[in-house]
Amino acid sequence: FDMFVLAFVERLFRPTFRKDDFVVGKKLGEGSFGVVYRVSLSKKRSNEDGEYVLKKATEYGAVEIWMNERVRRACGNSCADFVYGFLEKSSKKGPEYWLLWKYEGESTLSGLIQSKEFPYNVETIILGKVQDLPKGLERENKIIQTIMRQLLFALDGLHSTGIVHRDVKPQNIIFSEGSRSFKIIDLGAAADLRVGINYIPKEFLLDPRYAAPEQYIMSTQTPSAPSAPVAAALSPVLWQMNLPDRFDIYSIGLIFLQMAFPSLRSDSNLIQFNRQLKRCEYELTAWRKLVEPRANADLRRGFQLLDLDNGIGWELLTSMVRYKARQRISAKAALAHPYFDRQGLLALSVMQ
Ligand code: ADP
Ligand code: MG
Repeated sequence: FDMFVLAFVERLFRPTFRKDDFVVGKKLGEGSFGVVYRVSLSKKRSNEDGEYVLKKATEYGAVEIWMNERVRRACGNSCADFVYGFLEKSSKKGPEYWLLWKYEGESTLSGLIQSKEFPYNVETIILGKVQDLPKGLERENKIIQTIMRQLLFALDGLHSTGIVHRDVKPQNIIFSEGSRSFKIIDLGAAADLRVGINYIPKEFLLDPRYAAPEQYIMSTQTPSAPSAPVAAALSPVLWQMNLPDRFDIYSIGLIFLQMAFPSLRSDSNLIQFNRQLKRCEYELTAWRKLVEPRANADLRRGFQLLDLDNGIGWELLTSMVRYKARQRISAKAALAHPYFDRQGLLALSVMQ
């Protein structure tokens, strides 16, 4: 009850917005369920400052607002700062849900890993300065380790709240300039298993580039959504049985792989890798045996990076990218993995 009152009071004192409060700027993205713009506040609200991001969404926007409100209260640091969500009826296209976040910055992990400078570009934005040190595998590993720790930290927040994201990919990871760390965005495909919200919608399409091999997140023995109170009572049990969070872990594992191997950062090469891995029955060690003998310099360097410190990075990677969900490590267990024993970038160890 207290939580309810707190949530209500917090909601009451937060600023509210309407359609004509915004000046719409550059389009940032367009998915099948909505369009995202950078916006600023119009003149009549010019005493308030700040840059925002606005998503105009279809009927699925209602669930996305619900997810964002929940995340905001339960694990606010995991995701972009959600400000407000409302139903906008006056649109010519029919009713739309408008969702508003603080503008976190211009860099997605996708943009950052596509740069030739990766991972040094990330080191610079995390530390806020260019380090005048020799480049090399050890330094790159340290940067990648820092990114992985931040991603797992954010994901653990979501999973501990009972939310599975289901669309974890570099495009949905934003670098927050305010907190100098990565945050997860786009809860449009997320599922809250504790209350049965958005429980395996049939329309939902998984992004094949980053999706784990299992088609359904919950086993097919639990095919329909139980009513909310039943789900709330059952879900800790279902969660233990089906480990739906491990779907996101697989995706994070693929991101780890892309950070270690520059050649796997392009879409076409990632798709080719996925085909190879499938042929290897999702055994990363089998894939390694297949490609390592005829590996080019780039691939060899990736293996070298993961082999540092007695192969502790490779060990972590192989515990994330596995066929069976229950054999994959959880976000919390991954954070305690010896891969993270070494100190990462200094800015992080000061902050966390
Ligand atoms: P969708 O994938 O449904 O189009 P997203 O929520 O992923 O919508 O947002 C699309 C893009 O907009 C992101 O890839 C990112 O570039 C940008 N973006 C989204 N939220 C923010 C934010 N809070 N701050 C800065 N940029 C954002
Ligand atoms: Mg997205």
